[in-house]
Amino acid sequence: MRIENELKLGFKDVMIRPKRSTLKSRSQVTLEREFTFLHSDLVWKGIPIMAANMDTVGTFKMAEALAKDGLFTAIHKHYSITEWQEFAKNASEKVLKNIAVSSGIGKDDSEKVARILNEFPRINFICLDVANGYSEHFVNFVKKMRKNHPNKIIIAGNVVTGEMVEELLLAGADIIKVGIGPGSVCTTRVKTGVGYPQLSAIIECADAAHGMGGQIISDGGCKIPGDIAKAFGGGADFVMLGGMLAGHEESGGEFIERNGEKFKAFYGMSSTTAMNKHVGGVANYRASEGKTVEVPFKGDVEETVTDILGGIRSTCTYVGARRLKELTKRTTFIRVQEQENQVYSS
Ligand code: 5GP
Repeated sequence: MRIENELKLGFKDVMIRPKRSTLKSRSQVTLEREFTFLHSDLVWKGIPIMAANMDTVGTFKMAEALAKDGLFTAIHKHYSITEWQEFAKNASEKVLKNIAVSSGIGKDDSEKVARILNEFPRINFICLDVANGYSEHFVNFVKKMRKNHPNKIIIAGNVVTGEMVEELLLAGADIIKVGIGPGSVCTTRVKTGVGYPQLSAIIECADAAHGMGGQIISDGGCKIPGDIAKAFGGGADFVMLGGMLAGHEESGGEFIERNGEKFKAFYGMSSTTAMNKHVGGVANYRASEGKTVEVPFKGDVEETVTDILGGIRSTCTYVGARRLKELTKRTTFIRVQEQENQVYSS
């Protein structure tokens, strides 16, 4: 056993220090970024915020809504080929450019991905997602997927430390998904004791990835627009959202109406609910590592997106970043023991 004594930080432990700025208005800030990749020759341009590949979040409807503003959606892996075909009938070029097809390490998953990419070659991104990206088996799977899809943009995760970011990039991934345990419906830290405070994970993994020409996605733990700004400030190239995009018209999850109030179901992809739905129950050698909750219905996602983008534009003006790309360079975090004033919070 060994103890690392250096303090690791989450979003709640810091604030961003304001800096002198020549920006007159938030409208002068551009949030769009353009990325080239370590392995793929493709280029992606857009606002690097993505919906998580959860069946209550990363839906076709969500992709259509988010693509309007140039945001991205990692489509969950449980749609059938027929559902993909239906979706692709109306999916514009812009929508196809802003989605990823997701896969776990199962043979069925990777075969389905190959079929989807074959039928819809304009889809550029593959999201290889496992709860624990540390296994050798996963690294070999990434290598195999790179060989089978030489020019696609491959996202792989989840990990939280620099050495594993490097290993997955070397195995063929372009973008590494970072986050173990911070998710709003995740119980990994409760069930296993394993995890890493998200802001430190971002800072350390971004350093490792950028040193090799790769990118990272901060995945999980954003509760408010300020957390997204902190993730970008820490060095995240993309930020993935689950809970903040759940509960909308475009989200998946069953509608619930009780005493005149509307809710939508939201659950982790390793929750008992998800496992019952997709794999016929929780296998007896494992524990569920996700929660099932009801979130108040939030209406169209467009309004939430406007709120998020407005918040991040404002962060950029507070630190003098004319473009989102400059935010990390202009960020100084201060360690704090307080966040917002909660006197009127219910
Ligand atoms: P949120 O934005 O809601 O805080 O986090 C979303 C992320 O939580 C997802 O992108 C995914 O990485 C993670 N996640 C989703 N479902 C589960 C689950 O059942 N268990 C765990 N451990 N993480 C989950």
